[in-house]
Amino acid sequence: MAKKQFKAESKRLLDLMINSIYTNREIFIRELISNASDAIDKLYYKSLTDSSVDMKRSDFKIEIEIDRDKRTLTVKDNGIGMTKEELDNNLGVIAKSGSREFNAAVDSKDIDIIGQFGVGFYSAFMVADRITVDSRAFGADQANRWESNGADGYTVEPCERDGVGTTITLYLKPDTDDDKYSDYLDCYRISGLVKKYSDYIRYPIVMDMERGRIKEGTEDEYESYTESTTLNSMVPIWKKNKKEVEDKDYNEFYKSRFFDYDEPLDVISQRTEGTATYSALMFIPSRAPYNFYSKDYEKGLALYTGGVMIMERCADLLPDCFSFIKGLVDSEDLSLNISREMLQQDRQLKVIAGALEKRIKKELADMLANDREKYEKFWSAFGLQIKYGVYSEFGANKDLLLDLLMFRSAAGDKMITLKEYRDAMPEDQKYIYYAAGEAGRVSTPSSEAVRAKGYDILMMTDDVDEFVARTLNEYDGKQFRSISGDDLGLRTDDEKKKDEELRKDHEELFGFIKDSLEGKVTDVTLSDRLTDFPVCVTTKGTISLEMERLLNAMPGSEKVTAERVLELNAEHPVFEKLKKLYDDDKDKLKEYAEILYDEAMLVEGIQPENPTRFAKLVFELM
Ligand code: ADP
Repeated sequence: MAKKQFKAESKRLLDLMINSIYTNREIFIRELISNASDAIDKLYYKSLTDSSVDMKRSDFKIEIEIDRDKRTLTVKDNGIGMTKEELDNNLGVIAKSGSREFNAAVDSKDIDIIGQFGVGFYSAFMVADRITVDSRAFGADQANRWESNGADGYTVEPCERDGVGTTITLYLKPDTDDDKYSDYLDCYRISGLVKKYSDYIRYPIVMDMERGRIKEGTEDEYESYTESTTLNSMVPIWKKNKKEVEDKDYNEFYKSRFFDYDEPLDVISQRTEGTATYSALMFIPSRAPYNFYSKDYEKGLALYTGGVMIMERCADLLPDCFSFIKGLVDSEDLSLNISREMLQQDRQLKVIAGALEKRIKKELADMLANDREKYEKFWSAFGLQIKYGVYSEFGANKDLLLDLLMFRSAAGDKMITLKEYRDAMPEDQKYIYYAAGEAGRVSTPSSEAVRAKGYDILMMTDDVDEFVARTLNEYDGKQFRSISGDDLGLRTDDEKKKDEELRKDHEELFGFIKDSLEGKVTDVTLSDRLTDFPVCVTTKGTISLEMERLLNAMPGSEKVTAERVLELNAEHPVFEKLKKLYDDDKDKLKEYAEILYDEAMLVEGIQPENPTRFAKLVFELM
């Protein structure tokens, strides 16, 4: 029988497994049991609609067998089984392979990242140097054996197996000084691992346990015997009373069910009766999955009805803004045979989705109120998603998410909510100030003018931030205002009148500078915000410099231009110089205008259009 080779990524993962870079090898048992349970789910689900499956719910089970002499550990199920082709396709290549992220994860050899994909069947090679998989698919007459001792490939050939299902036999590696693989031949060890990782599996996991008893007819003579024992409690963890479940049980469940190496940040367990009867168990991961902010990420909760999974990932249960939630919903109210299309229309499902959304929101709001540190951790992982949630769908969800938003405060250099900003606003402050993009990272003349008034500024450094501010428009009666806009709203009416008069005095100078800049600016005017600086650039209208940058960076979008306004500081010595040049040397003034404009843009974090010319002009000045 010719050996077949594993596909490329499978082989690489296999190598990692064989060389046991995992410290947590015991999880292989969880992976095998979870595969067995999935296979039974599939056949049980089929049995509900297909009368040719002659099996009852109570017929299904997973059996574990230990053979000390042969050093084998066997996991056996009577699930759907695999055909010859399926053995080849499913075990010759990793289910998740092919995707760029997965390959990159395996390349990185970082087990935390690989773990996010679930290591599955191959994890058995951490403890075994030879594995056989005997499987008979539902409806097939012939069983087949897949066999491999790891690196140099595998074979598939016909074999005998009674009935439908799969039997996986691990030939354990020899013990070394460091690693006692024979631990896995100890029924108490195995029983402990099953309890730890697979207690909630809804089919019995049965094993012969060795026990001792006093021999009949004697007083103190012990004899050992074996007793077939169900190792798991089978009650799904989400059906258990919350008080009976310890945090560590939830955490273990989360890690094994949702392939995460970290404990969840938060657990949300909900059981309701009323308009919708369901149990939900949801988790907030402690960090964003590797592909969370890419289009490959699929949101959704697993959907069960009466303990039977009918959909692995039901997207309709979660709004996009909470797409980071992992978990499941179990509702008796849904029909087992419901199709995907019908599910979307299902009223019950909509009611549940609405209730979950409220519950998640409440959980986050409570976390923000009661455990700030935890909330900030949440925010650094998923805050961006909340912000997208505010901005998307034309702000349809903004009210839901408003109180969850956080930005960095310029005053305190810490994260604050909008409410905290609002509460700290001095009486005379009219607007909620924000600095977007580069301006949110550094201090600019505009930010100094606002800060000089004793007003705080929200530092909006993420790309989506300014869109969020625009979508919100106002918070608690106060409008958002960009510090890069042309009107900071800091002047009193009297001051404004004076500004206007001064402006009139210099109209010709401003007109000349504007013309010199050849369309780069829509206006040149006197500034009301500058103290130490001679010049700055602000924008008029809806498009800011930051939005111009972002929108123009989007592929295929039409080019937009922010309406720039060059503001000059009449109190600055440079202004005197400009006035003088206007009278004496207009050519020089033209060059000055260029320099001033480029400098003002530099302060906003934008490179001069022609850096060489800019540098040359400055050198000439020197
Ligand atoms: P995953 O379970 O994450 O898909 P695995 O590598 O663990 O990846 O398994 C690959 C595939 O092999 C599974 O998706 C399933 O189709 C099949 N498989 C594994 N174990 C069994 C089993 N006991 N019965 C039927 N099919 C199985």
